[in-house]
Amino acid sequence: MMMKCIYCLEDKPEALYRKTEHVIPQSFGVFKNNFTLNKVVCDNCNKYFGDNLEIDLARDTYEGHSRFEFNVKKPDDYKSYGKNSRIIIRIAEGPLKGTYAYREYSPDSNKIVLKLVPQVGFRKLDSDEYEYYLLDEIPDKEYLEKNDFDLKHTQAIKAFGTDVNQLEQKLKEKNISFKLRGEIAPPDKSDDLLCEIEGEIDRTIFRAIAKIAFNYLAFWQTSEFLYYRDFDNVRKYIRYGEAVNYPIVRVIDKAILADEPSTGKRRLGHLITVNWAGDNLSIVGQVSLFNWVTYVVCLARNFSGERRNIKKGHLFNTNSQEIYMLETK
Ligand SMILES: [Zn+2]
Repeated sequence: MMMKCIYCLEDKPEALYRKTEHVIPQSFGVFKNNFTLNKVVCDNCNKYFGDNLEIDLARDTYEGHSRFEFNVKKPDDYKSYGKNSRIIIRIAEGPLKGTYAYREYSPDSNKIVLKLVPQVGFRKLDSDEYEYYLLDEIPDKEYLEKNDFDLKHTQAIKAFGTDVNQLEQKLKEKNISFKLRGEIAPPDKSDDLLCEIEGEIDRTIFRAIAKIAFNYLAFWQTSEFLYYRDFDNVRKYIRYGEAVNYPIVRVIDKAILADEPSTGKRRLGHLITVNWAGDNLSIVGQVSLFNWVTYVVCLARNFSGERRNIKKGHLFNTNSQEIYMLETK
């Protein structure tokens, strides 16, 4: 028996549909009576998604890092993208203010700890604050002088995550002379440090999110409904990264649940909804992992197919592992 995959639209024998596709990737939790797709997504597409989209969604996003805070994952499962990460962490207070850090699993404490990236800080004249640069991004001496950085006085230069020889070498390349005056005591490990986190959400992440919304629609609707050509844009975007002339995924800071604030405390878990848009022509999904930002996914524009009732919404509680249906007023 041949079956058509909802992503690549290829007709393939049943034997090529062995794997289970999860609406919420398993890396974001396993749930009771979990929402899964069987014999709908071919093994090829399933593997492509796992290797190319889900891995980055899990390991290199703010939501992915939150898996450890909410105990969806154990600390020793943590895998750092290090310097190549989309997530930039900067310490926002205390003597290390402004320094760049990354997260790493520490076997000693069985915790994820912050470590400082190799970097050099320069202090401006008449200031106590330092501006930090990664070792490979140290500006030229001329630039620093022109911008009123102090290159002479004691403690005008601070460095972390590097040894003296390497530091001297890097500074010498930029014609900056440096004399070691002392070492800075590492921060007390028991201290909680306030950090600023900057993240880049790129197309790979958006595609992984769009897949969650499309999978969710596929879970509730028949495959025939999903074969409509009107879904081809979102399909190709998810499967092949092909963009169209409108944003398929947008980020908004409004909570999905009407009674929750746009910032502040919200229910714990992942949220997915799907419905007709206000224009009654487009089909829109919403996804929020750990109920953080809301991703709005345009699943189809000016839908020409059957106008069935597609409205659905669920909360995936990562603590109790229960899935709750969302009620609408
Ligand atoms: Zn396929």
